[in-house]
Order: sequence, then C-alpha cells, then structure tokens
Amino acid sequence: MTETATGLEFSRQLSSNRKTEEQRAEVLADPGFGNHFTDHTAVVDYTAGPDGHGSWHDARIEPYGPIPLDPAASVLHYGQEIFEGMKAYKHDDGSVWTFRAESNATRMNRSARRLALPQLPEETFLESLRQLVEVDKDWIPTGEGDSLYLRPYMFATEAFLGVRPSREVSYRVIASPAGNYFGGELKPVSIWLSRNYARAGRGGTGNAKCGGNYAASLAPQMEAEEHGCKQVLFLDPFNDDAVEELGGMNVFFVFKDGRLVTPALSGTILEGVTRSSVIQLGKDRGLDVQERKITIDEWEDGVKSGEITEVFACGTAAVITPIGELKTENGDIGSPDAKPGEVTMSLREQLLGIQTGKAEDPHGWLTRLA
Ligand SMILES: *Cc1c(COP(=O)(O)O)cnc(C)c1O
Repeated sequence: MTETATGLEFSRQLSSNRKTEEQRAEVLADPGFGNHFTDHTAVVDYTAGPDGHGSWHDARIEPYGPIPLDPAASVLHYGQEIFEGMKAYKHDDGSVWTFRAESNATRMNRSARRLALPQLPEETFLESLRQLVEVDKDWIPTGEGDSLYLRPYMFATEAFLGVRPSREVSYRVIASPAGNYFGGELKPVSIWLSRNYARAGRGGTGNAKCGGNYAASLAPQMEAEEHGCKQVLFLDPFNDDAVEELGGMNVFFVFKDGRLVTPALSGTILEGVTRSSVIQLGKDRGLDVQERKITIDEWEDGVKSGEITEVFACGTAAVITPIGELKTENGDIGSPDAKPGEVTMSLREQLLGIQTGKAEDPHGWLTRLA
C-alpha cells in the first residue's frame, strides 16, 4: 500500500500467471511496437452521483487480462474515451525514468474536459505509472532506443444508452515493451496527402487525445497505404490548405536560413509533448523557431527552391522521423531517396540522449519512476 498526495492508495494483486523468464526474454529481444504487454495493469475507478459530483476509488494493480464490461457500456456506443502515451527508459544504472509525464497528466485532463470525462488528480496519474513500472520493471527492454511504452486511458463504463456523460468511468494503464516504431533502420518515410478527409474541424476534438480521432484517421490511412505510404498528412482546407499534422505526429520544417517552423496550435492540432520539446531544443541551439501557419504551397515552393531543406515528424512513439517525400494526387514533393537531414538527426539524437540518460537534461524533463 502506498499513500499518494491525494490519499488514494494502490492495492496490489500480483499475477499468478506471469510470463516465464524465457518468454519475456524472447519478447524483449525484438519487441516491435504495441504487440506485447506486461503482466499487470493499473486501474482506478470513478463513480459520480446524479448531481455530477464523484470520486476516484479502488486504485489497484491487478493481473493483465480481459476487462469485464457491460454490453451497454457507453464507451461502446458513443466513444467517450481518451488516452495518453509516454515511454519509460531504463538507464545504465538500472533506474527507470519517464519523460515529461507531468505534461501528459495535464493534457489528459484537458482531453477529459473536452470529452466530458472526470479530472484525474495529476498525482494519481503519476503514481499509477510508478506502481505499474515497479511491478513490471523486468519488462523494460534495454537495446538502443528501446523503452517501455506506457498507455494510460480513460473510458465510460456506465450501462446506459441515453446520451449524457457516463457516471462510471475507468482509468487504466497498460505497458508494452517497445523497439523502433517504424522497424529497422531510420529511413525517411513517405507520407500521403489526404484531400478527401480532414482529421479535425473547428470546435471539434482535434486538440484532445481521444480514440475517436484515431478511428476517423483509419480510412485515410488505408488510402495512404494504397499509395505506398504509412502515414497521412492532414490539411485545413478552410484555411488556405494550412498544414496541420499527421494522424498521430506533429510536423516541422527546417529552413536553410536557420528557421525551424511548425504549424501554430489552432485548436485543431494536438499539442505534442515531443513538439514542445523540439521547440525548446531548437531555441536552445539558436534556431529561429516559429509557430505559424504554413501552407502546402509554401512547402512545395520551399522544397523546390531549396529554402526548405528538411521535413520531419515527431511524437512519443517514433520520437523524430525524417519525412522524405509527400505524395499527393497531383505530384510529389521531395524524394523517397532523400537522406535523413542533419538538423533532424541531431535533434533526434539529443532528445533520445536526454530520454535515455546519455545526454544532459537541462530542463529537468526526466521523472524517476523506479
Ligand atoms: C499523441 C499525438 C501526437 C504526438 O504527441 P506526443 O505527446 O509528442 O506523443 C501528435 N498528434 C496527434 C494527433 C496525437 O494524438
């Protein structure tokens, strides 16, 4: 039992069905992304009364396994769900750290507000990560760039078909050993420009991290795959085709003259923790970082004229990934054979260095979990 600042204690029911050491070693040798899960899960339940006031209770670590859920649970009908994603790294001395998890806690509560889900005390969020990592720390792979991906999520469990916020909610965390997101060596990716679909609209849920946004991105992603691309770029067609972001990553443009440009947060873009970190690291190294509108025409012209020298995507899962080309219905921008850019790779190395404890952490971004 552990006291947290909010008074919530996590009880612990350990799994009697843990994977064997050999099974675990096999997974950790080649974890991939999101395929394997650890032996436990963290859970906290929420119950509200008809007056809307409620409380979190029954914080616990329990064996990983199926979730009992009523067939009428409102998440299954109206999609009231949000999630977060961050990584825990095992440093050379065996200690375990996560990167800017406080930002994820804050963002989850922002998403919760938009999806009419309850606020989770940030201390409970952080404690759930500590508790889960403590029981499952043998699952953290230690190969180059490897980590334990942590997935907190919150969803509506009340059995009720009327349309209103659920009075019963479950918060959970699962953990998954993670290797390189795109697999193999770091090669610039090809991105498909979606003209038939938008990711988000004004006043919608684009700046909330909710499952519904991802469900809506699957049809465009299938379109991308038909064109040999793994990811989709979304524009704002009502704003001069301003570049927004990929389905799950923010984008940056490196200019020849030292400018580093990323689309300004407009309410339809998800504010990535990696995005904020790249902005800070860019400023630290004297780049002229600009958060502003950048249109697809500026991208095309910039690449043609040589003013834009590198484009990259960033997010927790893939960290920083160079974009080689943007494929569109009327011609391609860039080249599939582009080499990863210098600024892209240097920012990537620095960010990974901070996360893995190999580079200085000047902004105090690491939080110790175990
Ligand atoms: C999670 C996410 C990102 C990246 O955010 P990070 O905090 O950097 O992982 C970017 N765009 C969307 C739509 C996302 O859901």
